[in-house]
Amino acid sequence: MNRQTTSTPATGAAGRSVLRLDAEDLNKCVQCGLCLPSCPTFRVTGDESLSPRGRIALMRQVQDHGAPLTTEVLTSFETCVQCRGCEPACPSGVPYGHLMEQTREALARQGRISPWWQRLAMEGLAHPRFLRLGSSALAGAQRLRLVPGPVARRFGLPGRLPIRREAHRASGTDVYLFTGCVMDVWQRPVHQAAQRVLEAAGFGVTPTADRAPCCGALHTHAGLGDRARQLAEATIAALSTDGSGDGPPILVDSAGCGAALKDYGHLLGTAAADRFSRRVLDVTEWLARHEDRLPAAEPLALRVAVQDPCHLRHVQRAHLPTRTVLAHYVTELVELDDDGLCCGAGGAYSVLQPELAGDIRARKVAAIDRARPDVVASANPGCSLHLAAVGVPTIHPLELVDRALNP
Ligand code: SF4
Ligand code: SF4
Repeated sequence: MNRQTTSTPATGAAGRSVLRLDAEDLNKCVQCGLCLPSCPTFRVTGDESLSPRGRIALMRQVQDHGAPLTTEVLTSFETCVQCRGCEPACPSGVPYGHLMEQTREALARQGRISPWWQRLAMEGLAHPRFLRLGSSALAGAQRLRLVPGPVARRFGLPGRLPIRREAHRASGTDVYLFTGCVMDVWQRPVHQAAQRVLEAAGFGVTPTADRAPCCGALHTHAGLGDRARQLAEATIAALSTDGSGDGPPILVDSAGCGAALKDYGHLLGTAAADRFSRRVLDVTEWLARHEDRLPAAEPLALRVAVQDPCHLRHVQRAHLPTRTVLAHYVTELVELDDDGLCCGAGGAYSVLQPELAGDIRARKVAAIDRARPDVVASANPGCSLHLAAVGVPTIHPLELVDRALNP
């Protein structure tokens, strides 16, 4: 576990533990337990303290009764994948994701989670030149077999990192294509495929590239709220007219980034951030809205299983457009039978909690095996890397569309 101490209470001025959660949000939970089957950590452990209901009960204990931040409490909070699978299952509308983000921010402020090395690594995400340089050096080390297999697996590295990347090019100003940080360095061909698909549908595309290098999603998850808000403000300023939040649609091909960008209104609480968030769409949402503009093509003769990234399905609630678009370009789509249960990737979760992440992934892999697909389509870089690490053939849905359009 990545904590610095294990049993000292974190206290406020009155000597009580401090989370500063919205009491109204916290009190929405009636402890019914209907969310438990949708929680991956509860499913693999059967442990109430690793369930949404258990975590909320501990938040109340800490906030309302000054309970100390014991090892059990910190473990409960740190092992949450933040997949938010519990939210659609909750009849009371508990905004669990925001409660956990606020909890983590309080703990990070008190130095109880997110140690210095994690903060340093997160800072690197906002510096694209540094990120590219570091990644290229790592790619060179891979070629020289200097990266041991266990290390590569522990950090979820792709089998062969790119040393160089083809430069971005703008083809018009109809839409922005948000390119982000790690995905742009490790999986730029996905962005290029998305751009070609959008262009084939008649849209001019401007990749955001270095002007908006990081959405701050991983910072929010790690409790680094101040840095996340700085990155959000910088992104809005870079992609808006006069910082107003207005401008062309912002299309995203990473579910995690899309969810973060759509949440800027909540994160910053400003009118400009609200306007900005309303411009954000997953690329497949945009294409499904313009289905009449999708070019005809011979469908790929493939049985494709759609793996819904949690931040597309549970957070953005925008997983159906993937199917709408893919149905034009592959011969067979199959559903997994696990009701969208998380795969265990969870941003940096698979690195920070490798055992639980592996157990959760094993359930997803079993569901994939039952569906017997030729390939798995996943619209989130973390999920695809996490699944590919155990040999699941994954591809971004827009890469499949691009293949059909450009055989
Ligand atoms: S979070 Fe919602 S579903 Fe889960 S126990 Fe609370 S009220 Fe019930
Ligand atoms: S966010 Fe995911 S892991 Fe966390 S409590 Fe909810 S369902 Fe469980």
